[in-house]
Amino acid sequence: MSEGVRIDRAAPEAARLPPVVRSVAELRLTVGRWRAAGETVGLVPTMGALHHGHLSLVDQMARETDRIVVSIFVNPKQFGPQEDFSNYPRRERADRETLSTTPADLVFAPPVGEMYPPGFATAVSVAGLSDDMEGAHRPGHFDGVATVVAKLFNQCAPDAAIFGEKDYQQLVVIRRFVRDLDMPVRVLGAPIVREPDGLAASSRNAYLNDEQRRIGAGLNRVLSDLKRRAEARESVAALEKEGRQALHDAGFDAVDYLCFRDAGNLEPLKRLDRPARLLCTARLGRTRLLDNVAVAPVDDGADTPGG
Ligand code: AMP
Repeated sequence: MSEGVRIDRAAPEAARLPPVVRSVAELRLTVGRWRAAGETVGLVPTMGALHHGHLSLVDQMARETDRIVVSIFVNPKQFGPQEDFSNYPRRERADRETLSTTPADLVFAPPVGEMYPPGFATAVSVAGLSDDMEGAHRPGHFDGVATVVAKLFNQCAPDAAIFGEKDYQQLVVIRRFVRDLDMPVRVLGAPIVREPDGLAASSRNAYLNDEQRRIGAGLNRVLSDLKRRAEARESVAALEKEGRQALHDAGFDAVDYLCFRDAGNLEPLKRLDRPARLLCTARLGRTRLLDNVAVAPVDDGADTPGG
């Protein structure tokens, strides 16, 4: 799509709220009209409480497809029984106002009963990839994510869908089931959008008090330091240990995991012999902060010391 098309589309709509539909039938009607006109469609799945991280996904999608659907659905199936489903921020009106400044064409905001009618009994489950890191700390979480994303793909039938690298394991899980189930959707990843102090933007940052917010900025500093040292050939295993200690020293209450993984399939790594990702979740009170950074391979295949 040319830049010209994008500017034409965004300008006249800047002041009005994007329309919202709540049923799959209405969504399909609108998408069907676009398709009949030969337009391509991009989907941006969210749980709302939109921030500049979400908006970057919309902007990136605007370079890929003619039309953009933003879904807003707080998906009960991806929350554990002790998690924040009922308290998760819901502010659809403000979200639509925010989206009115973007090229989003339509908001799909279904009620829970539209997504999971009585008798709903099916799950999409990605074995292996879903089991550790986030999956180990949030049992059932990725089944909930994969199920709702698969439904959204079937409901909207987009050409492309975009997900943030902030939830890196989620992105890998989605790419896997799309491939395994032959879904005709191009899955795009978007870089992590950060606050000025390095904290990854997140709807859950609103849960942090001032002191926790200050400590939270340390997470990216620690990961960036570990990345630099790993790329300078320090031992991956030693850095994982040191990183956990550094986060405790910085004031985090717990570190759920901190590990270097293969960037493509998330398998554990002993040596940086391929593109990697350093992934971490650390806790401040009840709030879990997720972050990750790309780690370049150390290219000559030599053993990293102690690795
Ligand atoms: P959520 O509403 O938290 O489910 O997020 C919806 C989408 O936005 C997911 O694909 C997230 O990975 C993505 N996202 C959330 N925060 C960020 C961020 N700081 N940078 C990039 N993408 C993000």
